[in-house]
Amino acid sequence: MNADVFAASQELKGGGVVVLPTETVYGLAANALDAEAVKKIFAIKGRPLNDPLILHVLDISWLERYTHVEKFLPRIEKITETFWPGPITIILPKKEIIPDIVTAGFSTVAVRCPDHPTFRAVLKASNLPLAAPSANPFGYVSPTRIGQVKATLGDKVKIMLDGGECSVGLESTILDITCPTPRILRPGAITADAISKVLEEDVVDYDVQIVSQNPNAPGQLKQHYCTNTRLVLFEHGHREFSQYFAKKKAIVFMQRPNNPDEIAKKLQLPAEDIFWLSYDGNLDVVARNLFSTLQYLDSAQYDTILCERPPREGIGIAIDDRLLRAAAKFNG
Ligand code: AMP
Ligand code: MG
Repeated sequence: MNADVFAASQELKGGGVVVLPTETVYGLAANALDAEAVKKIFAIKGRPLNDPLILHVLDISWLERYTHVEKFLPRIEKITETFWPGPITIILPKKEIIPDIVTAGFSTVAVRCPDHPTFRAVLKASNLPLAAPSANPFGYVSPTRIGQVKATLGDKVKIMLDGGECSVGLESTILDITCPTPRILRPGAITADAISKVLEEDVVDYDVQIVSQNPNAPGQLKQHYCTNTRLVLFEHGHREFSQYFAKKKAIVFMQRPNNPDEIAKKLQLPAEDIFWLSYDGNLDVVARNLFSTLQYLDSAQYDTILCERPPREGIGIAIDDRLLRAAAKFNG
């Protein structure tokens, strides 16, 4: 066994916390069956105790250990056969063995089966279900590279495993399958349409309007993923920026503009202050680059980040959700 994987699993078995890569974002993991260990996650992140964590399992066989699957088996089978391991979390009734701190007192638990080989190796070696939120201070942009974790939590966690750049770059889709009609609680790379096709039934898509009317629903905070630097969004395709006053602004496009130098000249900006999240508008690439670019810009000397909104289709719905919540802090 790889020495890093061994060290991480020993630390977890001993009640410690470790940073692990996943395909979505980096996670801060602890043994989900040990309430004292899970408490450390909340303390390190400054996360409020009413925000429940996701339980990570190695495969479907672990589901029965921790959740009541019986009533939902047809849905579970379809979802897991198609999408697991992968970036989709399902909500199920929890078994007694899961401490309340993991679920913020809810009788349901969110479960995911991650696809990153390092995370899977640690699950296997420790043989423990791992509670793991994103490895960032609560409310800040999620980390998609180990350097970003080290910059914010470096002095708080001893063992951090580097798994390279996260391939998805956005947190998992969260799907509640305990409702009469399954419902998306958080949009992600796996969309409501894709899920609906697999389940062969309707799925209630995530709706920003409804979410903002339910501020107490877990994790559906209007403000989240925030930069410290002011973030202002502009509509997809909009190319007129004279109304935005800022001494030093960065402009972020979804796709490389044909004429970045011309745009810079017109706006009287240095060309290096124009950024793009993909060359060709591929939204998977945008998602992968989003958080790392925001963090980079946040640490650079800008007073405003102007960012284009994505088209609201496919994974664009999830990208737009993260941007709206990141910008909410600056909307008065
Ligand atoms: P993260 O912040 O990426 O760790 O994701 C955790 C999120 O999962 C929470 O903020 C909630 O949105 C969601 N979640 C976890 N457990 C539950 C649950 N029992 N019911 C509904 N949503 C949950
Ligand atoms: Mg998070």
